[in-house]
Amino acid sequence: MRTKIVAGNWKMHKNAEETEDLLNDLIDKLPNDVEARVIVAPTFVNLSSAVEHLQFTNIGVAAQNMHQSEAGAFTGEISADMLKSIGVDIVILGHSERRAYFHETDALLAEKVNTALKHDLEVIFCFGEELKDRQSEQHFNIVENQLKDGLFHLEAKAWENIILAYEPVWAIGTGETASPEQAQEMHEFIRQTVKTKFGAEVAENVSILYGGSVKPENAKEIFGKPDVDGGLIGGAALKATDFSAIVAGI
Ligand code: PEP
Repeated sequence: MRTKIVAGNWKMHKNAEETEDLLNDLIDKLPNDVEARVIVAPTFVNLSSAVEHLQFTNIGVAAQNMHQSEAGAFTGEISADMLKSIGVDIVILGHSERRAYFHETDALLAEKVNTALKHDLEVIFCFGEELKDRQSEQHFNIVENQLKDGLFHLEAKAWENIILAYEPVWAIGTGETASPEQAQEMHEFIRQTVKTKFGAEVAENVSILYGGSVKPENAKEIFGKPDVDGGLIGGAALKATDFSAIVAGI
């Protein structure tokens, strides 16, 4: 049985004090009777305090990005080893904002994935089509290529540390959500694509999260689809009441 996961990407929100407040609020409000992994991804500067704050809970902490190199003259960057050294075991790679604003390509992401896995980091790998791709009915091709270019060089065993996050760009932060049927259709396609390359066991075990304007009102229906194993949440992860309600919908 694959794992259900709800992860909150806090992006560039919450200073140190606000991070602590939100974590306390989450500890207070998150339902403890759900069988889902819950992960939060605060900013780099607050990762260390988040790890410490959550050490006696079952809430995981993820970084929102990392550099592909081991170390070096890369001003402003963070390495996989640095993340591990403060107790972070999960990293989000390939978020559409990293792809769009920081020009991260599939080839670069493949390098980042390799470095993360080498350091025993679990990877939440994000991908998804833009609006123009869906309008021109290229969405399946785009998603297939992102998967192939970012992850298909891996060995089957490495997939134990991969979580997929399908995030149609047109649904991120826009308030427009893919319908549960659109999400299911794409997730099924993704699982089938993974199966064709890596076999049924890998495909059945990999968790595929949906991301894009998930809110308490739509979470349950989207998460109810057979190939949707949870969500990557942006805006609604910044309020403990909303995030907890989404987790309760799993
Ligand atoms: C995201 O940025 O990963 C995301 C899904 O954002 P939102 O939930 O705000 O659409």
